[in-house]
Amino acid sequence: MAPIILSAPLEGWVTPLEAVPDPVFAGRMLGDGIAIDPTGDTLHAPCAGRIVGLQSTGHAITIEAENGAQILMHLGIDTVALDGRGFTPLVAIGDEVASGDPLIRFDLDLLVQSARAVITPILLTETGGTVVSDIAAPGPIAVGAALMTLQPTATSAGAPQEPHDASGISATRTLRIDLPHGLHARPAARIAALARERDATVTIAKGDRSASARSPTGMLGLGIAFGDEITLSAHGDDADQALDALVALIAGGMGEAPATPAIPSPSLPPSPVPDDLAPGTIGGVCAAPGLAVGPVRQHRTADIEVPVHGRGIAVETQAFDDAHSQLVQDVARQALAARGPAQAILQAHAALLDDPELREATNAGIARGESAGHAWRMAIRQQADILRTGGNARLAERADDLLDLERRLLALLVGAAPTADLYAVGTILIADDLLPSDLIAIPEGLAALCIARGGPTSHVAILAASMGLPTLVAAGAAVLDIAEGTRIIVDANKGRLLSHPTADEIAVAEAQQAATARRRADALATAAAACHTADGTRIEVFANLGAASEAAPAVANGAEGCGLLRTEFLFLDRDTAPSVAEQHRDYQAIADGLAGRPLIVRLLDIGGDKPAPYLTMAAEENPALGLRGIRVGLAHPALLEDQLRAILQVQPIGQCRIMLPMVARVEELRDVRRVLDRLSAEMEIATPIALGIMVETPAAAVTADTLAREADFLSIGTNDLTQYTLAMDRANPAVASALDGLHPAVLRLIAQTCRGGATHGRWTGVCGSLASDPLAVPILLGLGVTELSAAPAMVPTIKARVREISLEACRAHAQAVLACASAPEVRTLARRFASEETPA
Ligand code: PEP
Ligand code: MG
Repeated sequence: MAPIILSAPLEGWVTPLEAVPDPVFAGRMLGDGIAIDPTGDTLHAPCAGRIVGLQSTGHAITIEAENGAQILMHLGIDTVALDGRGFTPLVAIGDEVASGDPLIRFDLDLLVQSARAVITPILLTETGGTVVSDIAAPGPIAVGAALMTLQPTATSAGAPQEPHDASGISATRTLRIDLPHGLHARPAARIAALARERDATVTIAKGDRSASARSPTGMLGLGIAFGDEITLSAHGDDADQALDALVALIAGGMGEAPATPAIPSPSLPPSPVPDDLAPGTIGGVCAAPGLAVGPVRQHRTADIEVPVHGRGIAVETQAFDDAHSQLVQDVARQALAARGPAQAILQAHAALLDDPELREATNAGIARGESAGHAWRMAIRQQADILRTGGNARLAERADDLLDLERRLLALLVGAAPTADLYAVGTILIADDLLPSDLIAIPEGLAALCIARGGPTSHVAILAASMGLPTLVAAGAAVLDIAEGTRIIVDANKGRLLSHPTADEIAVAEAQQAATARRRADALATAAAACHTADGTRIEVFANLGAASEAAPAVANGAEGCGLLRTEFLFLDRDTAPSVAEQHRDYQAIADGLAGRPLIVRLLDIGGDKPAPYLTMAAEENPALGLRGIRVGLAHPALLEDQLRAILQVQPIGQCRIMLPMVARVEELRDVRRVLDRLSAEMEIATPIALGIMVETPAAAVTADTLAREADFLSIGTNDLTQYTLAMDRANPAVASALDGLHPAVLRLIAQTCRGGATHGRWTGVCGSLASDPLAVPILLGLGVTELSAAPAMVPTIKARVREISLEACRAHAQAVLACASAPEVRTLARRFASEETPA
C-alpha cells in the first residue's frame, strides 16, 4: 500500500496537538495527528475520499481515504455548544470528494468571540493500517501544502480490536443521553478509552444503527443527541462490569455542563430562595453564619496570559524551576503559619506541587517548544479535567486546588500582583467562584463573602466557616452586577443579601452586629466554665476536630473534649494507608492537646463523598449508598484492626472513646465489638473502652432503642441523617437550599433516637452541624440531647446559648416544632423562640 500525503485543510498556523486546550485531543484519546490555528474561513478535504461523518452542528467532519483510514477534523474547541451557529457545511455524508474540495465554511470572527478556542485538531481516528508520519513543523501553512503522511504499517491495525469472540456472558443496558450536546467528540473519546480498558466487546446502538464503543468515529456517526435513548450491549467475561462502568461514566455527565434549558443562565445557579424575596434582596445558601455590612469588592480574575511558544528549552526550564521552587517555599511557609482546614488545604497543595506527573508533563511541554507557563497550564488542566469528569463531587472540588496552583505559579512567572494586595478591611467580597488560596491570601478583616457559584461543601466554604467569615454560596449571577463600593448587607443566617439597603436597614443590621460582637466577647469570657441550662441541667459542649493543631485552640475556646474526631481528615493526601505507629502518633497528639479531656475517635469514614486515595474501591453507581463508613472497615479488616490498635495505644487508657460511622445494622456494632474485645485482650487492656455509634441513617434512628442495648452512647450525625432522610445529596449544590437539618422529619428522628437511648440509660449527643447552629440548640436540648459537639469557633457561642435557656422552655418549644409542616416553619418558630427567650 502506498503512503498517502494529507494536505493542509486550512490556512493557519501548524501547532502540536499537545497545545490544544482539551485533554481529549492533547492526550490523543481520539487519535494521532496535528492541529492548525486557522486564519482562513474554509475547511478543505485533506485527501480524496468519502465523507463518512458530519456532525449535525457542522463543526466536525470525518473523511475516509481510499485505504480506509479516517481523518477527523474538529473546528475549534467546545464549538459543539454553538449549535451550528457560524458553520455552513458544503457537503453531506456519503459524498465523494477530491483533495482540496471545500467541505465547511465558517465564520472565524464569530468563533473567535464565542468558542473556547478556534484551534482545529486533524486526527487519524481509524487507521486503515497506517500511522501518521512526516508531520509539518510548527509555523504558518497554506491550504494544500503537505501536512502529514499516512504511512502503511507492517501490521494492519484497521478498526479498533475487540478482545475476543463474542460468545461469553452478554449484558445490555438502556439509558437516555443527558449530555447537553449529545455524544460529540469529547464524550465519545472518553467512552472509547474506557471500553478499550475492558475485556468485553461493547456496542452502542441508537435505533437500528450501532457502532463499537471502542470507535469514537463510529459512535459519532450515530448522531446521538440530548434525550436520545441508547442501548449498550456487551459480550465477554467483563460484560456486566464494563456496562456498569460505562453507564456510570455517561450518567455522571463527563464534565459537560448539565442540560438545563429552562434556566436562563445555565452556567450560573439561580437564586435559591426565589419566592419571598423583596426587590433588592438576593437569596443564597448559608455556608458560614453571620451578618455583615460593608462595601462591595468584586473579585474578578481573568486567566493570566502566557505565550504558547518558549524562548528555548534551557531558558524555560530555568524559569519554571525558579517559579516552582518559589511557590513550594511560599506554600510551605503559609502551611506552617496556618491552622485547621487552611493548614490541611495548604498541605494538600504542597503535595500536589510535589507530584512528579505534573512536573514531567510540564518538562515534556517545554521540550516540545512551549513556554514554561503554557506547559504548566496544560499539565494542570489535563489533571483537573480528569478530576472533574470522574463523577465524584469531592474529587471534582480538588480540581479547583489545581487551578489555584496554576494561577499562583503563573503569577510568579509573569510577576503578577498577589491577591492579598487588593482588599481592604471591612470589605464584602463577591466572586463568581473563588479558589482556596484566594481566601487564604486575603488579609484578615474581610467582613463577608458571597459566591455566585460554589456549594456548601467546597473547600472555600469549609475555610470560610473555619475563619468565622459570614458566607453565602450559590447566590447566582445577580450578585456579580452589584457595583463596586456599594454598601450592602449580607445576612448569611437568613441566606440572603440586600443589594440596596435603606439607611434604616443598615442601622438595624449594624445594631445587630454590635450586639453579636458583645455577646461573643461575653461568651468567650465565660467559655471555660462547665455548662448548665438556666434551670441547672448539665450539658457537655465538645468540639469537632480534624487536625492535631486544632485541639489546643478548641480547649481555649471552652471545649470540654472532642465529640467527633474525623480521622479520615488526618490521612487524606496519602498513597498508602497510615501505619499503626503514624495513627497512634496523631491520636496521641490530639489527646495531649485536650489535656485529659475525653476524645471520641470516629473510625475511618471513607467512601461516598470522602475518597481515600490509598484505598482503591470499585466504582459504584450510588456511592453514598454503597461501601462507606463502617462498611469499609468491615470489608477491610486489616484497616479496621490497625486503627483500633492505634487508638488502644493512646495514653491514658480510657481517654479515647470509639465511635462507628454510618451504622445501619446492629451486626456492624457486634462485629466491631468482637474485634475490639479481642485486641484489648491481646494488648492486656482491662479498662473497658466505650464503644458508641453515630446515628446517621434513618434505620439507626428508628431502631435506637434496640441499638442502645449494645452501644455505650449515641451521637447523631445530622449532616448525613438529613441527607438520607430527605434523599438529597449533601454534595449537590442543586439541592443545597432545601437540605435543612431542621426539617420536621429529621427532628422526629432525633426525638426517636433520644427516646431510644434513654430506654437503656445511654446519653445521646449531636455532632453534625446542627450542634453549631444556635437556632437549633434549644430544639435539640428539648428533644433530649445532652451533649453537643460543635465547630471549635462556635463553642463559646453554643455554651452561652445553653446557659440562657431553661430545659422546660426547650421541651415546650421542641414539641411545637415537631408539629410543623416544613423546615422554614420550624426556623420561623425557632427565631421567635430566640427573640423571646434571650435575655435583653
Ligand atoms: C454527620 O454526618 O453529621 C457527621 C458529623 O459526619 P460527617 O459530616 O463527617 O459525615
Ligand atoms: Mg457523617
